[in-house]
Amino acid sequence: MAMLVTERKKRGIVATVFLVEILKGMALTLRRLFSKPVTRQYPTEKRQPFLGFRGQHALARDPESGACRCVACMRCAAVCPSQCITIRFRQEEEGGPRIVERYEIEAFRCVYCGYCEEVCPVNAIVLTEVYEYSAYDRRANFFDQERLLANWDRFLTESGHDPAQYVNPFWQQRGMEERMLAAGRRKPVPADWRPAGQVVGPAHRAKPLGKREEALC
Ligand code: SF4
Ligand code: SF4
Repeated sequence: MAMLVTERKKRGIVATVFLVEILKGMALTLRRLFSKPVTRQYPTEKRQPFLGFRGQHALARDPESGACRCVACMRCAAVCPSQCITIRFRQEEEGGPRIVERYEIEAFRCVYCGYCEEVCPVNAIVLTEVYEYSAYDRRANFFDQERLLANWDRFLTESGHDPAQYVNPFWQQRGMEERMLAAGRRKPVPADWRPAGQVVGPAHRAKPLGKREEALC
């Protein structure tokens, strides 16, 4: 096994007599004392998360009817690598529309991969930009359908997004043509929704770190 041995530089007589290192340390402390603080005064000062941040789960409502958009296709449950989504549905008649009876997510098991929202054909499931959901009780992170719909309402209230306009980058990646999406996912996107501002996917990861930060601003 190779061992790296480095020789410590000997301190000169001037540095020893005048305690240069201590003076340097004090100068640094003094500089920091008058420089702008870099810490954020959370919770009074909150960071604005970027679009595509993977936070608290929610089930989106139809902006017109207010009903849950989910059509119980089961794709999210099938693709979830953590198997933390449980869905039960019923059908009034053979081949008829599916009615969701139970939709549950165990958020503690989630790895926030975003696959569920990527495969959803109707933009029903979303990882919202809400990052404040710590709780004293583990049950608070077990989301049933009612909680997931309430999470959507909370997200819209706190973020100020218009439910008719909101598009998540996992629902429609920037630069992706509408015709490439399932009919239920097609919706107009903001004018600045160009690939350059993409914050998810391989194109974003390939960017140097500085460029990635620019895209988030
Ligand atoms: S983000 Fe990934 S792990 Fe979490 S519920 Fe969705 S598919 Fe499952
Ligand atoms: S993929 Fe979308 S529509 Fe299908 S079950 Fe999941 S949330 Fe519902």
